[in-house]
Amino acid sequence: MTDAKPDDVLQGLLDGNRRFIEGRMEHAHESPTDRDALLEEQHPCVTLLGCSDSRVPPSVIFDVGLGQVFSIRIAGHVLSDEVRASVRYAAVHLGTPLILVLGHEGCGAVTETLQAVRTGGDLSQPLVRDLAVPVRRALSDEGDEDVVNRAVLLHTRAEAAALREDAVLKPLIDEGRLRVAAAVYRMHTGEVELLSQ
Ligand SMILES: [Zn+2]
Repeated sequence: MTDAKPDDVLQGLLDGNRRFIEGRMEHAHESPTDRDALLEEQHPCVTLLGCSDSRVPPSVIFDVGLGQVFSIRIAGHVLSDEVRASVRYAAVHLGTPLILVLGHEGCGAVTETLQAVRTGGDLSQPLVRDLAVPVRRALSDEGDEDVVNRAVLLHTRAEAAALREDAVLKPLIDEGRLRVAAAVYRMHTGEVELLSQ
């Protein structure tokens, strides 16, 4: 279990993201020695819930290497029962002090759901079923960003809010041992932008 404070972990990730944006990556924790040091156990500093999109690999965009990110990735990062159980596992058994829900611009799963909503397609399938909720809200909202990105922001914030109310996680949050943050990855710049609650 890491002793790091949630806010310090978040700042460390944002510092790593700044290095990634500017092409100053340190590539720490990637050597054979680091690999050996992790043989017995892991103490990741963050549980990351994000999309499977190949352009958004957490360890790369935060420049953190091995053993740092407990990464839960699924298309559209929907909060299925299995995903929720994985988040709980990392928080309770690995003691990660931070949960970061990371949406990204131009998400393909959200784009496909928008298409299905607009054309009256089948919305009963997994992923689409969950993503239809923020997509419909985004369609009725107005804002600076396009519909897909508005839906990504709504979806990401809603998941973070749901995790803050999770029966297993909430006591840890109330004790100050755990923080749930939401952010969006900007595809054009490589920037991870924190979202307000
Ligand atoms: Zn995506």
